[in-house]
Amino acid sequence: MADTTHPMFKRLALIGIGLIGSSISHAARRHGALVGEIVGSSATEATRTKALELGLIDKAYATAAEAAQNADLIIVCTPVGVCGRVAQEIGPHLSPDAIVSDVGSVKTSIVADMAPHLPAGVHFVPGHPIAGTEQSGPEAGFAELFDGRWCILTPPDGAEQPAAKKLAAFWTGLGAKVEIMTPEHHDLVLAITSHLPHLIAFNIVNTAEHLKRVTDSEVIKFSAGGFRDFTRIAASDPTMWRDVFLNNKEAVLHMLKRFGEDLSALEAAIRADDGATLFKRFAEARAIRRGIVEAGQDIASPDFGRSGKAVPNSGKR
Ligand code: NAP
Repeated sequence: MADTTHPMFKRLALIGIGLIGSSISHAARRHGALVGEIVGSSATEATRTKALELGLIDKAYATAAEAAQNADLIIVCTPVGVCGRVAQEIGPHLSPDAIVSDVGSVKTSIVADMAPHLPAGVHFVPGHPIAGTEQSGPEAGFAELFDGRWCILTPPDGAEQPAAKKLAAFWTGLGAKVEIMTPEHHDLVLAITSHLPHLIAFNIVNTAEHLKRVTDSEVIKFSAGGFRDFTRIAASDPTMWRDVFLNNKEAVLHMLKRFGEDLSALEAAIRADDGATLFKRFAEARAIRRGIVEAGQDIASPDFGRSGKAVPNSGKR
C-alpha cells in the first residue's frame, strides 16, 4: 500500500518536460508514494503551460534554478547538449544532500559537462531509461513507458552509494529494472544497441528519398517491406539525435567501422552468390530477435511498434 504521507522524495524537479519528463511524472503519480510535489521548468512558455494543464507538474518555473530550489530530487530531462548549462544554472541553488540525475542517452560527456558545476554535498547519479518512442513533448508521455524496461544508472561511487540505492528504488517504483555500470561502458553498449540503429534508419530513409527511380509515392505505397519500421525510428527528434552523435562520437565511430566491415562481408557474399554465408548471417540475426522477445523487451506480434502506447520501442536510445 503506497504511503502518500511519507513520499520517498518531497519535491521532484523536472528540468525539461518532454516525452521522458512527462512519463516520469505520470509513472510517479501512478505509484503514489514516490514523490510529494512535482515542479518543473522547460525552455518555452508553451510547454510549461501544457504541463500544468495536463497536471504533470504542480508548479511551473521559467528557469531551472527556480525549479531546483528546495527539491530533494532533480532530474534533468533536456537534450544532452544543454545538460551542462542546466547544471551550471542550478548548481548554486541546490539544497545540500539533494540528488541530481538526468535521463540523457549518452553518459560520459554528461558527467564531464555536469559534475563540475554541482557543489559538494549534492549527490550526482546520472541515469538513462532505455525506453522511448519517436514522439516528443509533454503530451507524448505515459505512465507505462518504463514498465519492464531497463534504467541504467552510472553513480560515480558505485551501486553501494546511498543516493544510488535511493534513485534505483525510485526507478523501480516507476516500473523499470535498474542496472549499474560505468558511463564509458554505457556509451559503448548504447552505441551499438541504439545509436547506430538510429543512424542507419536516418540514412536509409534519406537514401530512399534521394533515389530518383523510387518516387515519393512508391516509397510510401510499398513501405511495408521493412522501410516503414525505419521511418518510425527516423521520425525521432533531430535535436536529441544530433546531440547524441556529437556526444558519443568515439563509440559510435568505432561501431560504425565494425558495421561497415560486416556490411562489406555481406556485399561480397551477394556478389559471389555465396548463399551459405547469407543464410548463416540471417539465421544468426533471427536468433537475436527471438532472444529479445524471450527477454520481454518486445513482443512477437507482427505489427510491433505500430500500435501506439501499448508497445514502447524496445532498446530505444
Ligand atoms: P523532448 O520530448 O523533446 O523534451 C525535451 C524537453 O527539454 C522539453 O521540455 C524542452 O522544452 C526542454 N528543453 C530543451 N532545451 C532546453 C533548455 N535549453 N533549457 C531547458 N529546457 C530545455 O525530449 P525527450 O524525448 O523527453 O528527451 C529528453 C532526454 O531524454 C534527452 O537527453 C534524450 O537523450 C533522453 N532520452 C530520450 C528518449 C526518447 O526515446 N525520446 C529515451 C531515453 C532517453 P520546450 O518543450 O519548452 O522546448
